[in-house]
Amino acid sequence: MRLLVTGGAGFIGSHIIEAALEVGHEVAALDNLSSGKKQNLPAGVKLFEVDLRDRSAVSAAIGDFRPDMVSHQAAQASVSISVKSPLLDAETNVIGGINLLDACREFSVRKVVFASTGGAIYGEVPEGRFASEDMVPVPISPYAIDKLCFEQLLGVYRVHHGLDSCVLRYANVYGPRQDPHGEAGVVAIFFMALLAKRKITVFARREAGDPGCVRDYVYVSDVARANIAALSDDWNERVMNVGTGRAITTLELVKLMAACMGSEVTPGFGPMRAGDAERSVLDIKRFAARFGANVSLEAGLERTFAWYRSQG
Ligand code: NAD
Repeated sequence: MRLLVTGGAGFIGSHIIEAALEVGHEVAALDNLSSGKKQNLPAGVKLFEVDLRDRSAVSAAIGDFRPDMVSHQAAQASVSISVKSPLLDAETNVIGGINLLDACREFSVRKVVFASTGGAIYGEVPEGRFASEDMVPVPISPYAIDKLCFEQLLGVYRVHHGLDSCVLRYANVYGPRQDPHGEAGVVAIFFMALLAKRKITVFARREAGDPGCVRDYVYVSDVARANIAALSDDWNERVMNVGTGRAITTLELVKLMAACMGSEVTPGFGPMRAGDAERSVLDIKRFAARFGANVSLEAGLERTFAWYRSQG
């Protein structure tokens, strides 16, 4: 099968490409390298260096590669940037996405698998609760609003234009190759800072000094295997959460990271950040029924730390 991975030079996209090559798919990447890097791509994978906002270039890339399926990972992926610049977010995540879907129609792509956000789309998830796929989304940032908008556009293209699709809503993803220079990706940011002996900051859930927001952290290989399975003929989920269902405060995360580094860590404490939900934890019954156990947070952090340390 021929698979085009948008955002393939990025963190998650590059893991999906590796997993797709392992099962024998023929793969290419489409990426504007705004946060992605060429060196994230396995050798021999063709890169279409294209911006999703460039409608004719997107069409030309799809027309050139003629994929059977598209894994759509490219995005403006930062909640805080979306709050500062809603226009930039919508241009990439909505208009750029429409450019992609129109090109998929034009060249008879069979299916699109879309990287949505379980971490942001449901809004606040009350204490003791887990956000299931059936919960009505209450997005509170432009990023989450635009992801939800694109999910709904996929439904329109499916019903009116026969383009099959499915949505994977990721929790907070971490693992090797995550970019620590952005504003998302707390595990990458903390490991890089700690290795460089810089101070790390726990942003507040409500008031500076509290243990921070509650999140569900999922290791990137679990995300990659869900993406590969979603391309298969026996996949019949329209929407699936990809997380662990384990609720972790930022301070708990820091302690687990310190344990895996074998050192003491004393973080600083900062204010709340605009657009951040206080608590987000996913219901993963659908994921668990299909895939069984997750990579544990402890094991995933060990693998991630080993990778950052190996980068010198
Ligand atoms: P990333 O920044 O590493 O990857 C995004 C890729 O998209 C990059 O390679 C970037 O260069 C590319 N890109 C950005 N704008 C583009 C444009 N206009 N045209 C073409 N390419 C463009 O981020 P990631 O963490 O790998 O995220 C991948 C996907 O998963 C995104 O859609 C993101 O919204 C979604 N997601 C990520 C997380 C997470 O925790 N990392 C959680 C939920 C959803």
